[in-house]
Amino acid sequence: MSASEPACTAAEALARLKAGNARFVRGETRFPTVHDGVRAALKQGQQPYATVLACSDSRVPPELVFDAGLGELFVIRVAGNVLGPAIAGTLQYAREHLHTPLFVVMGHENCGAVQAALDARLHGARQKARIEALLDNVLPALDDIDLGAPPEQRMHAAVEANVRRTLRSIRASADAGAAVADGSVQLVGAVYDLDTGRVQFLD
Ligand SMILES: [Zn+2]
Repeated sequence: MSASEPACTAAEALARLKAGNARFVRGETRFPTVHDGVRAALKQGQQPYATVLACSDSRVPPELVFDAGLGELFVIRVAGNVLGPAIAGTLQYAREHLHTPLFVVMGHENCGAVQAALDARLHGARQKARIEALLDNVLPALDDIDLGAPPEQRMHAAVEANVRRTLRSIRASADAGAAVADGSVQLVGAVYDLDTGRVQFLD
């Protein structure tokens, strides 16, 4: 959310997506290759082993971070890994129809959405209307942290508090709350460290 100049033109970006997909189809991906057989087997249906709600940040793709292949993770990504109606519906779909036993809400250090919420709270920084609507989902999490802490510590606390708030919001919905309570699904929070690449699961 901080780059002011595009990395390339839209046409170049589209060409990169097409070239990447062509490598994928040929089985020549830069990342772990998906064999024809895997793709063919998945045509029958998916049975992902976990559902992950993560940030849209390009540095935190769950499939790469967890070294998971095609068909293994059911992934929802939205800036700031917040909950909203479409996301709640996607989580419910994952539970009702895909029966993934584990749900993970994963935030990450130096999250632009969390930083924007901190800037709004601390300095009254304004964003365009739809971004502000998104930040409305992050701002309440900041009530749980010490805003007077040093910036790095404050950021770390805000990222974790934002994950915990999303976890609480999920648990607050009747059916998800019941599923967590009776142990039929497990819901965990996590924070990805951009430096080390390590995912820390929260207690
Ligand atoms: Zn982020």
